[in-house]
Parts: sequence; C-alpha cells; structure tokens
Amino acid sequence: MSTSTPQKFEFQAEISQLLEIVTHSIYTEKEIFVRELVSNAADALEKLRHTQLTEKDIFDDKLELEINVTTDDKAKTITIQDFGIGMTRAELVENLGTIAHSGSKAFLKAIGENEAKNTSLIGQFGVGFYSAFMVAQSVKVYSRSWRQDEPGHVWSSDGSGSYEIEESEGERRGTKIVIKLKEDCADFAQDWKVKEILERYSAFVSYPINLNAKRVNTIQALWLRNKNEIKDEEYTEFYKFQAHAYDEPRLRLHFSADAPLAINALLFVPKDNTEKLGFSRLEASVSLYCRKVLIEAKPKDLLPEWLRFLKGVVDSEDLPLNLSRETMQDKALIEKLNKVITKRFLKFLEEEAKNRIDGYNEFYAEFGIFLKEGAAMDFTHKDQLVKLLRFESSLTEKGKTTSLADYVSRMGSEQKEIYYLVGPNRAAIESGPYLEGFKARNLEVLFCYEAVDEYVMNNVREFDGKKLTAADHADVKLSELPKPEGGLSEAEVEALGKWIKDTLGERVSEVKASDRLVDSPVLALNADKFMSPHMRRMMKAMNKDGAESPLRVNLEINPRHAVLTHLHALHTANPDKAKLVAEQLLDNALISAGLLDDATAMVARLNKLLESV
Ligand code: ADP
Ligand code: MG
Repeated sequence: MSTSTPQKFEFQAEISQLLEIVTHSIYTEKEIFVRELVSNAADALEKLRHTQLTEKDIFDDKLELEINVTTDDKAKTITIQDFGIGMTRAELVENLGTIAHSGSKAFLKAIGENEAKNTSLIGQFGVGFYSAFMVAQSVKVYSRSWRQDEPGHVWSSDGSGSYEIEESEGERRGTKIVIKLKEDCADFAQDWKVKEILERYSAFVSYPINLNAKRVNTIQALWLRNKNEIKDEEYTEFYKFQAHAYDEPRLRLHFSADAPLAINALLFVPKDNTEKLGFSRLEASVSLYCRKVLIEAKPKDLLPEWLRFLKGVVDSEDLPLNLSRETMQDKALIEKLNKVITKRFLKFLEEEAKNRIDGYNEFYAEFGIFLKEGAAMDFTHKDQLVKLLRFESSLTEKGKTTSLADYVSRMGSEQKEIYYLVGPNRAAIESGPYLEGFKARNLEVLFCYEAVDEYVMNNVREFDGKKLTAADHADVKLSELPKPEGGLSEAEVEALGKWIKDTLGERVSEVKASDRLVDSPVLALNADKFMSPHMRRMMKAMNKDGAESPLRVNLEINPRHAVLTHLHALHTANPDKAKLVAEQLLDNALISAGLLDDATAMVARLNKLLESV
C-alpha cells in the first residue's frame, strides 16, 4: 500500500552521530562526496546489470547504463543520476535510514578508537551516502526500483535528525540525488570544479559518466584487462594519464593474483630517476583502487619506502560481488597487499636481470640506488635485494658489472670473504695501492663508487655465508706469497720500520712490512675499527662529531720498492732529508686513502725536497 502524504522518520542514533561529524568536516575533505555518490551510482548500475542476467521483466529496460552529473550554479545544486537498480520505499528506509552498510560503520568504529584524529579520517574512509551532508543544505533522493509494480519515491532530509519519504510521480528507473549546496560549498555547483573531482577519483569507473552532458571518463581501467590484448601504446598512454607523466615508462609489470588476495596491479618504472637528477625526494605514488574507484592516490604503506619510484595502480576487490569498500579500510589488509606486491615485483626484477640483461643494467644504472637502500634498510626483503645488486669489479671491464652470486661462483676454494673497495671511480681504485695485493693473489675485488655503498656493504654484512670485507681494512689477512728476490733484508726492514715509527710519532700507530704491496712503496691502513676512511670523509662533509678525531693509521711499507731501499741508505747518511722523505711517504699514503685533509704542509715540504734534486 503506497501513500502520497509525506511520512516522517527519525534517523538511527548512529547516523545522527555520523551526520554531526560530517557537517563539521574540513573543506579539503568535502569533495569526496562526489566520489561516494558516483560510486553508489556505479554500484547500482552494476547491480542492475547482474539483475538483467536473470530477470526478464525489468522496468524501463531500454535506459542506458550511465551516470549523469549536472550542476546549476544559479540554483547552487548538483545532481547525480543513475539508471541503476533503484530503491523501493522499504529500501530507502533500510539503506538510507539505518547504518547496516558501508564504510560509515568502519569509520565510526575508527574514530571511536582514535578520537584525536577524528574527522581527518573521512577522506580515507568515505562515509558513503552521508558524505552528501558535508556540503548539503538539503538532499533529495528520487528513486524508482527496477521492479515493475513499485512506484517512485522521493526521500528528503536536511541532515538534522529526521527525513521524509513521499511518493513521486513520473520517475524513471534508478536514482537521482539532488543536493542543494550550503552557501560556503557553492563551488560544487561549478562545472570545472566537479570535472576536476571526477577526473581525480572516478576516471576509471566502468560506466560512462557525463558531466553536464559531456563525457568525463574516457580512459579504461587497463589493469583489469587481459594483458595479451593490450598494446604497448595503450600502456604508455595509460601511464602518462595515470602518473601525470611525460616520459615513456622504462619497465612495466602487469599482474593479477587470486590468493591470498584478489589483486590486479599495473606498475611502471619511469624512464628517469628524478631523485638522482637532484629533484626532491619521491613520494609513494602507486594508487590504491577498489573496483576501479580511487581509494587513495598516494597511500604511504602500500609499498616499502625503497619502492617509492614506482608508478601505477593496485586494485583489490577481495570479494567480487561485495560492493562495499569496507574491507579496504583495514590496515592488516594493506600490509598483506604490500607483501604480495613487493614479492611479485622482486621476482619480476629477478627475471628481468636474467632474461633481459641490458635492459636490467640500464634500469639498475638509474634506479639501483633504491635497491641498495632496500638492501640496507628493509630486513624483510634484504636477501632478494642483495641478489639484484651489481658492481664493477677488478675482473669486469669498465662499465660492465657483476652480481654477488657471480662473484661467489668465481671464488677459489681458499677464499672465504667477498672483498670490496670504495672509491670515486675505477681509475682511482685501480691506481691506488690497495688493489695490487689482491691482484697478485688473483682475488677479485668489487668496486663501489657511490657514497652510500659503504653503508650498504656494512649493513648487508654477508652474502651466501661470506662476509663482505673492505679490502683496505687492517684486519684483512692475505696469504703468503713467495718472496721476490732483492729488496731489504728482514733486519733492515725492522730497523727502518722502527726509525719511521719514531720519526712520524703519533701520526702512525704501527709501521710494518706489507704483504699487500707489489708496485707501490707504501699504503695506509685504517686503524680505527669504527670509522673507515670513507665514513670519515662523509662525516666531515656532514660536519658530524667525530670528523676531527685524531687520525691514526697503520703504515705498511714495501721492502722491495726503490724508494724504501734508498730511504734505508738515507736514514743513516742524511737523517734530516730522510725525515722529509718519510713524512712525504706517509702523506702520499694518506692521499691514496682519501685521508689527507690539508695539503698545505705537504706542498711546502715537497718544494723543500725538490730543492735538492
Ligand atoms: P555503501 O555504498 O558502502 O553500501 P552508502 O552509504 O554509500 O554505503 O550507501 C548505502 C546504501 O544505499 C547502499 O548500500 C545501497 O544499497 C543504497 N544506495 C545508495 N545509493 C544508491 C543508488 N544510487 N542506487 C541504489 N541504491 C543506492
Ligand atoms: Mg557507497
């Protein structure tokens, strides 16, 4: 039995509470009411489509499945209309008067637990239909069910505790929501404003959305299509649109998973690493969608920090026919998504590294720094990340790299550790004194050129059970080599070493014959267990404490080198000149180690030495 006189209803207590909160929402959140109402419209169309599959007798069956948004800036109204499933009188009461549904429930629960954060959660949650009251003076919902014999109704409320329902003549199938905007929300009756909002949140909704009779959403939700049917150009177009990018993506990963979660994801690695170019730190920007509707454009926890260079979309609809987004508002769920996607992306990189070596190396040259960051900081994914790292080494050509796994496969049975040297470039490392002892023993040394490498190596610590060891560290023990002919005798070396130590005093902690030197006269080894030369330089650059701590090194001398045999003769014949030579040798060693802070004294000394040439 229908009635044409308006009937008045009170809202359920929780709804009144919710309305109280939304009416005090801050301006930036208000716009999401468009997203919420459009999503409801899309849901209603989707439900109708399902109904059409089984029901033959549907009211107004010829109507297009589309969403029409119209604005009237004179009257200050916005109208959202769909030709979806519609609502009967009972459904209007049930759906819009009680809070059995929707994200609203989860929202209320969250603010209950989280009083302080309060309304700022609205955007994240979406409070469904009630979000209309953030901007509305009054809301009218005209609706007519798909069922043939149900009349149309209009539901109306000003959001202050009660609503009315009345029969309404001449309604078409579906729902039309007319919002009379509050004075300070009149912007939402502007075409440009609403267009912007629709493009941001609803660009991929599968049903056509027309704003004032003009179609807004023309790009498809590519991530839900079968990848075998998608052309490269389509991917590129999508990337440019979705990521607001101008470049061509370097790599892409399009995948779906069913377990443990239903996920469709389309991820892109951009062409360039803009952080490397000196632009500001990237923000996480893979967007989270649920059934094509944007949940969050830049969710922080969806991926680990070191994946902040990725662009694209992750869409999860856990239950295909569950039309609520409530499930997305769950932190544990985000964590699960994070785990699945990260794992999948790492597997993808592993495959790239194996099957498309050049492409991977180009990617690595640009984005490797992020993998290093992950290897050093992300304990969960460290092992997989370390496998993806690449370095030049003493055995690669310039510009070619090796993985740690390949390094290990080349190690002789004697070798227990993985050696590396940090330096500004290949030439600097190769011409320094540290490498020669390793070369003479056929030990491969990885070359690290980036400021972070030392930190990374220290944090990674080991690979495949082998310790990562700085080749210029004093603790490194190298095997005996057959002693070449010539040079100073052991007694002479000892005497000379003692004399050098006495002459140089506090500047060195130990002087001894080297087992590493082949071609160079001397080298300095860091005697500070806690601060490597490179760390020292970095600290100095950052002006941190410790930069000025007195420097002490172990000096190793090469008894077969002409400079040392000469010095041995000189130290008794002309001790004054010998002292200058010894000091200069130490400075030379410090320069090679990158440890000489001030060269002024050295230059003066060198000039003095040159006088006697
Ligand atoms: P949710 O969409 O999460 O269920 P909402 O508060 O957005 O929560 O909507 C509440 C309910 O109202 C919906 O579940 C749906 O049954 C009904 N509803 C809202 N908008 C429409 C619409 N345009 N057409 C049909 N039913 C709707
Ligand atoms: Mg909704």
